[in-house]
Amino acid sequence: MTEVLNPFKIVQQQVKMVCDKLGYEDSVYEILKEPEKVLVVSIPVKMDDGSIKTFIGYRSQHSTALGPAKGGVRFHPDVTLDEVKALSTWMTFKCGVVGIPYGGGKGGVVCNPKELSRGELERLSRGFFRAIYPIIGPEKDIPAPDVYTNAQVMAWFVDEYSSLKGYYSPGVVTGKPIRLGGSAGRTEATGRGCMFTIREAAKEIGLDMKGATVAVQGSGNVGGIAAKLIAELGSKIVAMSDSKGGVYNPDGIDPDAVLEHKAKTGSVLGFPGSQEISNDELLELDVDILVPAALENVITSKNAANIKAKIIGEGANGPTTPEADKILYEKGILVIPDILANAGGVTVSYFEWVQNLMNFYWTEEEVNSRLEGIMVRAFKEVYQMHKEHKVNMRDAAYMVSIQRVAEAMKLRGWI
Ligand code: GLU
Repeated sequence: MTEVLNPFKIVQQQVKMVCDKLGYEDSVYEILKEPEKVLVVSIPVKMDDGSIKTFIGYRSQHSTALGPAKGGVRFHPDVTLDEVKALSTWMTFKCGVVGIPYGGGKGGVVCNPKELSRGELERLSRGFFRAIYPIIGPEKDIPAPDVYTNAQVMAWFVDEYSSLKGYYSPGVVTGKPIRLGGSAGRTEATGRGCMFTIREAAKEIGLDMKGATVAVQGSGNVGGIAAKLIAELGSKIVAMSDSKGGVYNPDGIDPDAVLEHKAKTGSVLGFPGSQEISNDELLELDVDILVPAALENVITSKNAANIKAKIIGEGANGPTTPEADKILYEKGILVIPDILANAGGVTVSYFEWVQNLMNFYWTEEEVNSRLEGIMVRAFKEVYQMHKEHKVNMRDAAYMVSIQRVAEAMKLRGWI
């Protein structure tokens, strides 16, 4: 049988399996199997050479049972409708597992931002937001950054929305620059949350973070920050990577220095004192902790058996296929699933939105300590479910979350 790699099919299977495990009537899955609303838009952009190029964008709102839809917007050449639908479904369960009052949403634009000038990127960002304007808003659907979008893109989004509204409305988007109502700690939040869950997992299996060896795939906003913060716990980062490949040194590498090197040269490759390895080799290194923090489907039935880490903290969304999951579980590897391990980003997005609605801003210490409280509690709830029901951590996370979403749907009279 060929391995299913369509992320939407994967998440549907996952939801179905968990609904069955929880003994739910079919109605719960019938509602959760498809997004509530999907908008497909075309965005004509005037390019610098005067020509017009039309880009395709999507916004999917999977569920609003627990609150407004929430989730990032991805700018990537490989974006597909099914990927965006899957990512929006993951967002529903990500918000559910950390217990924040949101449903799930996600957007994507098929484009290669690396090939666009700043002006083209701004016009594309504004065009996308104008196109999805009818379905977004602080009480309806709140976008945020995702792969290849950042605080500047959010600034254009919020400006476009506010000019259509006629007043400044910061609560429509999170991940904004601080000056425009962004939250302290938001940029680091996903990596920080990932570190908290890994630290808690290490406690459970009796692994000392001091001296533990770690490989991190990806060195962006999630991988780069997670590597830095895990190193601060006394662990030894032995490998990091980006889309071009990885660097490895069994004696340890300094994540700050690697990130500086990347900022200067455009890649982690060529980092002094390191040996070059591929992204695939990085996953199979003999380390205690592995953090896949790049893209989907990197741990599959083909390489799962070769993974040696004791803990996998999924910084990326969907890095492990269901086939691989089974193999990892049999090997006794503790996988902290994406919807838990990378939920720190949306958690601080929630703090940002709350601050925008109150117009009252918190310090970075307040943000980080509230984040820690939520991540540790969510980890414990999922871990307990995993132990009690003898299921892997992913199923346990979905069970915790789907119970919350299903309860909301029942109370609202949907089922
Ligand atoms: N894109 C991030 C995620 O996948 C953050 C979403 C948000 O902050 O709304 O979790």
